[in-house]
Amino acid sequence: MSETLIPVQEINLPGFTIPDPPNEADLLRCVHCGLCLNHCPTYRLTSRETESPRGRIFLIKELAEGKQQVNDLFQEHIGLCLDCRNCETVCPSGVRYSVLLEAARGEIVRTGKLSTTEKFIRWAILKQLFPYPRRLDLVAGATGLYQRTLQPIVRESGILKLFGRLGELEALLPSRKLRRYVPPKPKKPVAEVQGALRTPTRPPRPRVSRGRVALFTGCLMRAGFANIHEATVRVLEQNHYEVIVPEGQTCCAALHVHAGERDMARQMAKYNIDLFLKEQWDAIVINAAGCGAQLKEYAELLRADPVYFHRAKEFAKRVKDVSELLAPTIAPNAAFPSKTRVTYQDACHLAHAQKIRLEPRQIIKQIGNVELIEMRASDRCCGSAGIYNVIHPEISDQLIDEKLVNTADTRAEIVVTGNIGCLLQLEYGKKRAGWSGRVLHLVELLDEAYRQVGSV
Ligand code: SF4
Ligand code: SF4
Repeated sequence: MSETLIPVQEINLPGFTIPDPPNEADLLRCVHCGLCLNHCPTYRLTSRETESPRGRIFLIKELAEGKQQVNDLFQEHIGLCLDCRNCETVCPSGVRYSVLLEAARGEIVRTGKLSTTEKFIRWAILKQLFPYPRRLDLVAGATGLYQRTLQPIVRESGILKLFGRLGELEALLPSRKLRRYVPPKPKKPVAEVQGALRTPTRPPRPRVSRGRVALFTGCLMRAGFANIHEATVRVLEQNHYEVIVPEGQTCCAALHVHAGERDMARQMAKYNIDLFLKEQWDAIVINAAGCGAQLKEYAELLRADPVYFHRAKEFAKRVKDVSELLAPTIAPNAAFPSKTRVTYQDACHLAHAQKIRLEPRQIIKQIGNVELIEMRASDRCCGSAGIYNVIHPEISDQLIDEKLVNTADTRAEIVVTGNIGCLLQLEYGKKRAGWSGRVLHLVELLDEAYRQVGSV
């Protein structure tokens, strides 16, 4: 990430019209060595240079220099990238690929030709739905109701085949029934509770000693995946953190940045920064890899803003993935009743963007009776990548099918991951492959293990 503010006027890249084009150093860092090619999922599947990191960087540099137009082919090659950032991990030159890609997508939104349908979908989903929690609640609530009532009948009837692609999209709906997360009311101080009860039914919990943390609840996670947030809070409390859920949060804007909607993303980033910097937190905790990476990179998004660049850096210092916070001091009293084989799928935005690989594994290894079996290519993208699985099902399905082969080969009973997108994609892949294991978020695994020994 840029360490200093980059004044927009010093950047002279004639091909970019967005207010925050990539800087020249980033454009020149690629030395064309090709070491990234076989680590790139889209290159591995297509064997085409234009679907590789090196090829895409070349196209973006040509655009910056005014030698390449934002035409259909450019849009196709840039659009087919998963933004998984595996190329960043393996690049010996330290290429910051995602800043180039996301700027190119911003340029496509500004000067490219988007179809009317795509424009409408972007407007409806990215601008009218995700930034507004109440609207998202309505959609998630209606989806949850459909899952509980009509879904079994509709799927059984075979009627979905009549709806073509729309019917196929229904198969991507989560296996989990959507349920909104409602934060618990703030707890009364222990002394007050004891005074109200003549004989306390259970001894007071030990005093909070590790710190006061704010939980970032996000958009979809808050609207539909209450069980993961509830498990996160229990696990943090078990590890002696006081957890507060600040009211009025909005989506982290990761989807917007990946889609090139940078102006909207900046508004949302500023809103979240202002909200969370109102109070002093020991940490801002996040349990979704994609959102965590975005929160930590707000300064990149706001680097042309003299005020918010510095505020974003302040904010980012406090953001911690839940595994990053817990691993160094994890409470040891977690165990499964019998030997359980577990494998771990690295979320791209944990492993490649945040460089968090060891911490989730340390936590899994701390759980009694759990054996961690590594799968092949655990850090290769599962094909979820935001809404990539909806837009590019052919590539996405190949990636998740390969992931399920690698998962099944470990003979694990549980596959664990740290991102909601990966989790849903693994559940989708599980159905396709007929695999019988369970898919859990890391905090769900830990919560279950604490419950097994009666800790929570
Ligand atoms: S992105 Fe990095 S690894 Fe790939 S060709 Fe360029 S310098 Fe080499
Ligand atoms: S982000 Fe992923 S898909 Fe895109 S070029 Fe890099 S490795 Fe390939």
